[in-house]
Amino acid sequence: MAQPSAAATAPSTLPASIGGVQVPTAHIAEQSISTTFHIEVMNDPETGQPMLIGSSDPHHGDLQVVTADQIIAKADEQHRTIAKAVRLALDYEAATRQAPTGKPRSWTIADSQTGMPLNGVCMVGCHGGHLELGSGRGTAEEVLCTQYDQANSTELPISCGSDDGEDWATLSVEIKSYPVHPDEEKRIPLAAIEVTEDHYIEDLDPDGLAVVIDKLQQRVNAMHIRHAELIRARNEYLGRQA
Ligand SMILES: [Zn+2]
Repeated sequence: MAQPSAAATAPSTLPASIGGVQVPTAHIAEQSISTTFHIEVMNDPETGQPMLIGSSDPHHGDLQVVTADQIIAKADEQHRTIAKAVRLALDYEAATRQAPTGKPRSWTIADSQTGMPLNGVCMVGCHGGHLELGSGRGTAEEVLCTQYDQANSTELPISCGSDDGEDWATLSVEIKSYPVHPDEEKRIPLAAIEVTEDHYIEDLDPDGLAVVIDKLQQRVNAMHIRHAELIRARNEYLGRQA
């Protein structure tokens, strides 16, 4: 099978780096990603036997007999190309979209240890309960802004040794920052993924496995969106420091 027509060019030269910290920019390099994945079963005109035919040319100029293994390998390549295309779209969005309107919440509390005022601004999109705002006091290292994963959650029947019959939210991406942390690096938003280890989804027949793959694929798509939201949250934070 010929090489794919996919032209996945170099990753965008999006953000510049200052002191190891990416700064927002409205520029995104010109680039294009395209791909063709054509498969058919046709009968050999001479023998009447079915043949598996594939092509990666948009005009089917390279139609040829292929094996199922070649198609599986090609599909893997195609998934990576499509993921790059989604990433490019989200990089574009992050580079060109205006930050959400409305000022982030700002507040002042007293440092529990020193009594000195701590002036904080919430991370953009913060869902944090901020109990310290009620008491008016908090520890600078512990005040946490958090943005939960609001995409449809991916729930899977993951068990550890015994089937407890429960579905668990899987691979949710939380975005966090410590807005008044004495270490300024900790104030820059970072992502945390809720992952499970040594846990299994058991007894999957091919249809069951396909359902799980589909759900994980949807979750990965949602994670790409969270990736864009992390870029947005960091750009908003760094923009405030500029
Ligand atoms: Zn907050």
